[in-house]
Amino acid sequence: MEYLPIFADLKQRPCLIVGGGEVAWRKTRMLLKAGAAVRVVAPELNKEFQALVADGKVVHLANAFEPEHLDGVFLAIAATDCREVNALVYQSANQRQVLVNVVDDTPRCSFIVPSIVDRSPLIVAISSSGKAPVLARLVREKLEALLPQHLGSMARIAGGFRDRLKQSLGSVTERRKFWERAFSGRFAELIAAGKEQQAAEELEQSIHQSTPQGEIALIGCGPGDAGLLTLRALQLMQQADVVLYDYLVSDEVMELVRRDAELVCVGKRAGHHSVPQAETNRLLVHYAQQGKRVVRLKGGDPFIFGRGGEELEVAAEAGIPFQVVPGITAAAGATAYAGIPLTHRDYAQSAMFITGHCRPDGDELDWSTLARGRQTLVIYMGLMKASHIQQQLLEHQRGADTPVAIIERGTQKQQKVLTGELHQLAELAEGAASPSLIVVGEVVKLSETLHWFGTQDQASEPSSQAVVGLV
Ligand code: SAH
Repeated sequence: MEYLPIFADLKQRPCLIVGGGEVAWRKTRMLLKAGAAVRVVAPELNKEFQALVADGKVVHLANAFEPEHLDGVFLAIAATDCREVNALVYQSANQRQVLVNVVDDTPRCSFIVPSIVDRSPLIVAISSSGKAPVLARLVREKLEALLPQHLGSMARIAGGFRDRLKQSLGSVTERRKFWERAFSGRFAELIAAGKEQQAAEELEQSIHQSTPQGEIALIGCGPGDAGLLTLRALQLMQQADVVLYDYLVSDEVMELVRRDAELVCVGKRAGHHSVPQAETNRLLVHYAQQGKRVVRLKGGDPFIFGRGGEELEVAAEAGIPFQVVPGITAAAGATAYAGIPLTHRDYAQSAMFITGHCRPDGDELDWSTLARGRQTLVIYMGLMKASHIQQQLLEHQRGADTPVAIIERGTQKQQKVLTGELHQLAELAEGAASPSLIVVGEVVKLSETLHWFGTQDQASEPSSQAVVGLV
């Protein structure tokens, strides 16, 4: 290990900055954030420095550096563009055993400043020991995305509860287990939801609980491309004890689930339901009642033709806490990847999402509304009903030449887009496989210029003589 990472308490400690430009200013800001008493030596100060000096937040000690400026100083940073001055600061600081950092000159540093992910009081420091600062920065960016903002509140509230816990739980092992459970359980979820008061109460209550409170997270995973997952979805997937998923959740997304989680497939396909909905509902409640963190993964958005509402009603009835993470629904994701804007000032002022797969006892759709011009109609689960949809729209005066598209496996590597006109919809559907989305409306034409994802030659031509475009 080339450096020992330590976290220094700088509050009220005198720290010296040599230099008055942009870099010196950034270092000063960092020191001030940590509560240091900053004094600066420089012939000229930039505007920000001048303001700080005027406000009494920084002391302008002198114009030219003298070794004596280091007397009584805790640490020093040299950020001038003059090599000689930087070298003198380094040398004089070493003589006095003062910690010193010459910016961008690792050999002249007795300490280096790490990249920081700040979730105060939780702080993550990253360093490449001066070897590859850009790599350290990239790692930092990854951690920034992975570590939720609310970790800070979590650490703060936990800090306030430590003494109380010591009184109740005597052994270190018991306390460790308590915190492990709290940081990945209900306490953490309440903080993430901004309910700090309830989170504090949860800590108090859970001292006396032998099994933790189970919970359910209903998560939308988007149409397939794992890059479209939300950060929240990813975080919860990595904390799951049990994951219930179905075939719409892509393999790419499933790869991101915590390795140790138990995976339960409740696969569903139009026509053959391998696990009836009632059984899925029962399993969700069953696992949560065992105190597990249950994650229910859904393709797209859970509340759009996802029966997410039904699953949560059962959870609510059983008194199990739950949360919902929205996802990018196929209508948004697949059309975006096919270069079809759902609305466009010239072609469509509204968009409607419908399903071709209604409850057997469901109402017949209002076709005269659906067939209106200047609107985009997006049909989920519509392949098997394509012929009926075509016939109804034509009967209700939607033009036979209205552009239509079928997007198969939208946003995924295998994405295939078939385009044609409304009178060809049924034929097009014969050349498509599930999951596919049907889009009807003038905006489909824009895909000729706006398509950007996938290749043109992967799909095979539909068997019919219909004039279809493959984009
Ligand atoms: N909750 C999901 C929809 C579930 S219904 C969502 O918000 O997207 C299942 C239907 O969604 C499929 O039959 C298909 O019409 C559509 N669908 C889901 N993923 C898709 C994808 N990647 N490409 C095209 N259509 C998709």
